[in-house]
Amino acid sequence: MRIGHVVGNWKLNGSLSGNETLLGSVKAAVPKAAGCRFGVCVPYPYLAQVKDLLAGSGVEWGGQDCSRFDKGAYTGEVSGAMLAEFGCTYAIVGHSERRTIFGDTDGVVAEKFAAARRAKLTAILCVGETLEERERGVTEEVLARQLDAVLENQGAAALDGALLAYEPVWAIGTGRTATVAQAQAAHAFLRGRVAKKDARVAEALPILYGGSVKAANAAELFAMPDVDGGLIGGASLVAEEFAAICQAAIARKG
Ligand code: PEP
Repeated sequence: MRIGHVVGNWKLNGSLSGNETLLGSVKAAVPKAAGCRFGVCVPYPYLAQVKDLLAGSGVEWGGQDCSRFDKGAYTGEVSGAMLAEFGCTYAIVGHSERRTIFGDTDGVVAEKFAAARRAKLTAILCVGETLEERERGVTEEVLARQLDAVLENQGAAALDGALLAYEPVWAIGTGRTATVAQAQAAHAFLRGRVAKKDARVAEALPILYGGSVKAANAAELFAMPDVDGGLIGGASLVAEEFAAICQAAIARKG
C-alpha cells in the first residue's frame, strides 16, 4: 500500500496571528495516522513560527519552492538546506504558478527537484496541462514532457521517496475539479510512464491530485486506485476543510 499524503499549499497567504489560529485548529483536528503523512507548505518567513507551532504534531511543514542552487550569489533564493534547517520535510517544485508567472522551465524545475532531494526533502514535482492543452488533446504529451525532464535526466531512482502531483492548471483555484475519471486517467498515465523505467519505483510512488479539492470531493478522488492524496490550495486555509480532507485520506488507507 502506498503512503497517502495531504499537503496544503498556502501560496501568498498568512500572518503571524492568523497562522497561530489556523494551525492551532489544524493540529488539534489532524491526528498522526499510520500510512498517511500530512503537511503544510508556507511562505518562507513563517517557517520558524510554523516549526514551533507544529513540532511534535501529526502535521509536517515545507517550502513552496526550492532553489536549484545550494549556496552563493543568488539574491532572493532559499536553498534546500535552509528549508531542512527549519525542519521542513516537503518542498514543492514546478507548481503551475511558478511555471507560468515566474518562468520556471521544465529544466529549471528538474534542477530544483534535484536540489530538494540533495537536501533530503520530500520533493513534490507538480505537473499539469492548461485548459487549452486539454482541449487540443495534448494532455498526455504535456505530462510526459514535464515528467521526462526529471525521469530521463535523473532516472526513475530520483522519484524514489519523492511525490508527483497532477494539477490540471484549469482546476487550480477555479472551483472546477477534474472528474474522478480524468484524475485517475492522468495518474495512471504518469505511473505507467515511470513504470516503463522502473516498475518498483512506479508502484511505490504516491501521486497526489491538486485542483479545487475540498472536503466535499476528497473521498471520491482518493477512492481512485492511482490517487494517493492531494495537494490542497484554498481549502488548506480553512482548518475544518483541511482536517476533513486529511480524514478522507485516513479513511482510504484504513
Ligand atoms: C494548489 O495551489 O496547488 C491548488 C491545487 O489550489 P486549489 O486547491 O485552491 O485549487
